[in-house]
Amino acid sequence: MRRVLAAAIAALTVSTAGAVAAGAPGHAAARSGWGRPAAAPAAPTPGSPGIGDSYFPDYGNGGYDVDHYDVRLRYEPATDQLSGTTTILARATQDLSRFNLDFVLGVQSVKVDNYPATFAREGAHELVITAPRPIVSGQSLTIVVQYAGVPSQTRVDGWTGWTKTADGALAVNEPESAWWWYPSNDHPSDKATWDVSVSVPTGVEVVSNGVQPRPPLAEPGNRTRWGWRSATPGATYLAFLAIGQYDIVTDTAPNGQPVVNAYSTTLGALGPAARASIGRTAEIVDWESGIFGPYPFEAQGGVAAPANSISFALETQTRSVYGPGFWRRGSNTYVVVHENAHQWFGDSVSVADWSQIWLNEGFASYAEWLWSEEQGEGTAQEWFDFTYASYPADAEFWQVPPGDPGANNVFDGAVYDRGAMALHQLRLAVGDAAFFRILPAWTAAHRHGNGTIEQFQALAEQVSGKDLDALFTTWLFTKGRPELTQAASAARSAAPTAPVKPKSWAKIREAHDLLAH
Ligand SMILES: [Zn+2]
Repeated sequence: MRRVLAAAIAALTVSTAGAVAAGAPGHAAARSGWGRPAAAPAAPTPGSPGIGDSYFPDYGNGGYDVDHYDVRLRYEPATDQLSGTTTILARATQDLSRFNLDFVLGVQSVKVDNYPATFAREGAHELVITAPRPIVSGQSLTIVVQYAGVPSQTRVDGWTGWTKTADGALAVNEPESAWWWYPSNDHPSDKATWDVSVSVPTGVEVVSNGVQPRPPLAEPGNRTRWGWRSATPGATYLAFLAIGQYDIVTDTAPNGQPVVNAYSTTLGALGPAARASIGRTAEIVDWESGIFGPYPFEAQGGVAAPANSISFALETQTRSVYGPGFWRRGSNTYVVVHENAHQWFGDSVSVADWSQIWLNEGFASYAEWLWSEEQGEGTAQEWFDFTYASYPADAEFWQVPPGDPGANNVFDGAVYDRGAMALHQLRLAVGDAAFFRILPAWTAAHRHGNGTIEQFQALAEQVSGKDLDALFTTWLFTKGRPELTQAASAARSAAPTAPVKPKSWAKIREAHDLLAH
């Protein structure tokens, strides 16, 4: 959720540095001479400083693929001092003369396969690593980075994705979050499993993704080391830390999985509304499983962030984190529905490129409309009609096409609301039977992987047997308010003359005002 304008500027800064690497000689040039017996092996080349994202060209890196992060930290809530070691298990995908990680804290040492490596900084957040021995394509790599810093004071273009709170900290953000607490290949197209362990003063809680492989361990100096494990591969931005005073509530979900909910003890009068919302996570996940397919992860839960912390919510894997603003006007299950829908749409099936953010936000927003229908608080059709009528044809809202909103508009309201409208149009075009087959087919086809809008359209066409090109072009890729098709008009005319404001309107608007901006 954040800081997209600054990110786009950072991307511009770094793409200049990236040009140096792009011009280096590659395999093709080395192989070009004919008649030479077994040409000398091509010279290894630098791994690209970006993985190739069309919106954020310097995110992620080329030349290797990460399998696992082992993040072992020590944190001081009083001073925001973070230190530790991250061990990365990866595999080279080319012969490498050097490679990059994305990271901004101070680095003390880097080792590659047990040998000290040299390292340097480039651009906004690149750590350039040169190993003392050659790295060949296919080789497995063990990269150990030792570091320390004060993440809240470590700024990129004046901004930090790390939130210092009164009693600890939150590492929760999108798309940039990892840079301030573990070095990574920071792009959703390189998924990995991870272990996180954090030593804090005893009496402070640490919450993260997945499950606890062991109870918290006492350490010398009146400290406690917490451990969390994510055994299902995930995107780097979906790893999180919540450190502070939390009441941790555990339970078993209807599907037998562990539920871990954590509530900041600083919430005061907002606490009960947070519990009345996040406390229904397992019920909501169970309902969503009936629509989207089997829940894709090993644990469930939510974290209620402290008063005066973040102003948004994020679908961090297995355990979403919610800012206090969602509880100001009472409980709100719609944001819990939204974030948990992302466990399928965004977390398990992730974008391959940030331009495809509709695959996350359109679906999570449509899940809220379905929940409204389920709760008897207004049907998806009523939501479509009222939203359509709310924005006149010349409204700015219609100028952001959700299928390619632009790097500065990744979290624009249109990606959420017009994004949900696009899915409702698909539902009308293919009929309920096909629509509710398409959703679980999509989450099954790309489970724990990545997907594109093109692939989603192809799947929807295959399941429904309909040509959906005009629908996708109009609703996702064309500026301006779409004219309603015959099917949409027919559905509309079944409703009373003036669109009725759904009962859930205020609750969902309230959630979206915080989620989209
Ligand atoms: Zn969302």
